[in-house]
Amino acid sequence: MVTVQEAFRIVQSVTGKPGVEEVDIVTSTGRVLAESIYADRDFPPFNRVAMDGIAVQADKFKTRGQVFPIEDIQAAGSPPLILKDQNNCIEVMTGSVLPKNTNAVIRYEDLEIKDGKAKILVEKIERGMNIHPQSQDAKQGEVLLMAGKKISAAEVALLASIGKKSVYVFAFPRTAVVSSGDELVEIDEVPELHQIRKSNSYTLQAAMKEMGWKSESFHLTDDKELVKKNLRTILEIDDVLILSGGVSKGKFDFIPEALEELGIKKLFHQVSQRPGKPFWFGASADKTKIVFALPGNPVSTFLCFHKYIKPWIMNCFGVSSKHITARLAADVIFAPPLTYFLQVRTELKDGMLLAHPKGGGGSGDFANLKDVDGFLELPLEKSAFNAGEAYPLISFRSIV
Ligand code: AMP
Ligand code: MG
Repeated sequence: MVTVQEAFRIVQSVTGKPGVEEVDIVTSTGRVLAESIYADRDFPPFNRVAMDGIAVQADKFKTRGQVFPIEDIQAAGSPPLILKDQNNCIEVMTGSVLPKNTNAVIRYEDLEIKDGKAKILVEKIERGMNIHPQSQDAKQGEVLLMAGKKISAAEVALLASIGKKSVYVFAFPRTAVVSSGDELVEIDEVPELHQIRKSNSYTLQAAMKEMGWKSESFHLTDDKELVKKNLRTILEIDDVLILSGGVSKGKFDFIPEALEELGIKKLFHQVSQRPGKPFWFGASADKTKIVFALPGNPVSTFLCFHKYIKPWIMNCFGVSSKHITARLAADVIFAPPLTYFLQVRTELKDGMLLAHPKGGGGSGDFANLKDVDGFLELPLEKSAFNAGEAYPLISFRSIV
């Protein structure tokens, strides 16, 4: 048995070299950049007018109430005009190029325009005001985004602005999600009294889909020879296996044995945690095949995915996970010498993230998951946890 810290370290230390694929920028959110992105021109590419109003030569302004005759109008998308008489002004639109011979923009709100003249209603005009200077954000050739950056809509804005329709991102490994157990039936079947519908593969695939991670799904019955035969076939095709069930001490828990016989070396079996204690993790000698064999209890499967597998895949792409902590909103006692992943509902209150414990009936109690946002990781060294203390949070829902 290993501790949660050891298990985490071992999992994170097995990182293969991820492949790369090209995706359309619109579907790239959540993916991780596999190429660095450079500015194809200055950002902004010209002195950009930032407000609708007039452009003047600031030095020509003396006093409030001064009037500048309007020489012309500079529209967005037109080449720059030239202010001929510096006692005049040019009307300018947001996004247009700043006309030559001007160096300040005064907003319409600070003007009175009448009979082709603009009267200034402010006391002071500063050079550069309401102008977004050329290359202020980035110079041509500068790195805008480094490889290893997780793409959000904000990054898509940059990608689009430099003319990229598609972008190289790290590819997810070929992955199989494999459930096991003779008690499980398909979700469109009506279970007998002694049967249940399989939910784990669906949960896992849904959680993976959120990240853009696709997988195939398989099922193993509790028959040693069949388990081995099917795992061998799956391992021929897929490089990452996420199994659920069949790793405990039951008479029909053949999975660890079968995996070892197929050349998947155990890196650990059992973690001093609840839920998820029977977790088995292994890899082929060359580390090209990686197997997460999670306990079948739906909450265990769910927790282990978020605690270990999600950070693992991100780590493979060079992205380290954010460590979030939340403060217990009530006292909790947990005596066994195990790290306890407490189901919590989070609340952001006065800038502080509070974790409200949700009482539950153990690791199979997945009906509670709908009422919580994550798990608070309570360390094994302690058994009394007091309200106000902060602990790591493994959240599976957006906090705000
Ligand atoms: P196991 O880890 O195989 O001993 O399974 C532990 C518990 O989780 C048992 O009650 C199983 O019926 C349940 N279980 C295992 N796999 C699944 C699954 N795919 N969906 C829902 N429950 C499961
Ligand atoms: Mg089972």
